[in-house]
Amino acid sequence: MIQEAQKRVEKSLNHAVFHAIRDICNEMNCPAFVIGGFVRDLYLNRPSKDIDVVVVGSGIELAERVAKKLGGLRLTVFKNFGTAMLRYRDLEVEFVGARKESYQRNSRKPIVEDGTLEDDQNRRDFTINALALSLNKSDYGTLVDPFNGMEDMENGIIRTPLEPGVTFSDDPLRMMRAIRFATQLNFRIEEKTFEGIKAQRDRIDIVSGERIADELNKIVMADRPSIGFKLLELTGLLEIIFPEFQAMKGVDKVDGRAHKDNFYHTLEVLDRIVPNTDNLWLRWSAILHDIAKPRTKRYDKKLGWTFHNHNFIGQKMIPKIFGRMKLPLNEKMKYVQKMVGLHMRPIVLSEDVVTDSAVRRLLFEAGDDIDDLMTLCEADITSKNEAKVKRYMRNFRVVRQKLKEIEEKDHIRNFQPPVTGEVIMETFGLEPCKEIGDLKSIIKEAILDGKIGNNFDEAFALLLKEAEAMGLKRVK
Ligand code: ATP
Repeated sequence: MIQEAQKRVEKSLNHAVFHAIRDICNEMNCPAFVIGGFVRDLYLNRPSKDIDVVVVGSGIELAERVAKKLGGLRLTVFKNFGTAMLRYRDLEVEFVGARKESYQRNSRKPIVEDGTLEDDQNRRDFTINALALSLNKSDYGTLVDPFNGMEDMENGIIRTPLEPGVTFSDDPLRMMRAIRFATQLNFRIEEKTFEGIKAQRDRIDIVSGERIADELNKIVMADRPSIGFKLLELTGLLEIIFPEFQAMKGVDKVDGRAHKDNFYHTLEVLDRIVPNTDNLWLRWSAILHDIAKPRTKRYDKKLGWTFHNHNFIGQKMIPKIFGRMKLPLNEKMKYVQKMVGLHMRPIVLSEDVVTDSAVRRLLFEAGDDIDDLMTLCEADITSKNEAKVKRYMRNFRVVRQKLKEIEEKDHIRNFQPPVTGEVIMETFGLEPCKEIGDLKSIIKEAILDGKIGNNFDEAFALLLKEAEAMGLKRVK
């Protein structure tokens, strides 16, 4: 592995950008290194286009000279941060001077001073993120790895370079990052580092909701998001940042009857949906589909455990959860609410005889999101009873087939009433009034029930009949 990785490093550093940096640093006599995520990902063979270059000197000056050498590239300079960024072909390169940081108790923003490469590596979050490759003429491509990051990489370990208590207390976002990297890379968080998170977990309070949400979303988009949520739970962070999810953990037992643990069930659903969707919001729907179960849980002597209306109550809980977690309150949230609200429907439908009218109603309510809803429902079948799973899956195939047939026949998906309010007003000489709404709803119901087809002629015929019964006179 090491040999192959070394080849990748050589190939990657054989690039005009890095050559330009090498030559200019030689002239300026200030050492520069490529550092952080790009180096880590190079060894792990994960493609990455974001390059961080740290120079013992001025990052902006180096960037200006590199931009000029490469043919007058456009440079974006962030004076306040002492950084500059340029794009060259497919790469995005950020330049910064090596720095030393010291933190205050109530802020994630450090006091920054110029420093050495070593100072700069000390301020990094994890050993695997502190790796640096030299861009200097004398030892071009040499790895600088003061904390044995390579060994941790080979063993799949997340570890802080300094005392974990200090690293996490200085910048508590690092606790989320540790769990995010463990999830994305399928790495283990080393014991002391893990204990450090547990000890410092309350410090998460000083991190903005937006930054926490960014990390959570990266966990949700990983191949096995359950790893991250289990770690969040084990460290005690989940309770603080997402108490509704924490509340799903645990099992109650009455009369010897227990319900399933909804925390682990949800994580199974989430992992199961991953191969079938890259849609972050469908994955969030999987996380939230049963969120109201703790709140709606009742024990009934005859029925056992029930969770009546947990879908509707869950739908209502979502704005508060999204608001607190700084997730968007726009149509993305509405989509998640719709998924949670409807997530029982295909299952109920498939337990019964699948009637055309039930399928039409589901199509009407789900609209274009019907396929996503079916994907969610299929992931939701986590029973250990194989016969049961097989039966559900068979029934879902029937539901999907019926959905297709009815959609082809009736075009209900994006339902537009075949007879509009204007037509009703013109036909009977009406001003806007309640009767128009009633007539439209009678027509819609008749179409959904399959009593008439979804077309103008049949809808208009029904309109005339119903209007007559209401005592309306046709004027046109
Ligand atoms: P990804 O691109 O997957 O987010 P990354 O490691 O490149 O991973 P960035 O946020 O771009 O993440 O950070 C680049 C580097 O900066 C990291 O590899 C790490 O060395 C350092 N870094 C970033 N955030 C922190 C932090 N909160 N504390 C300490 N070092 C950090």
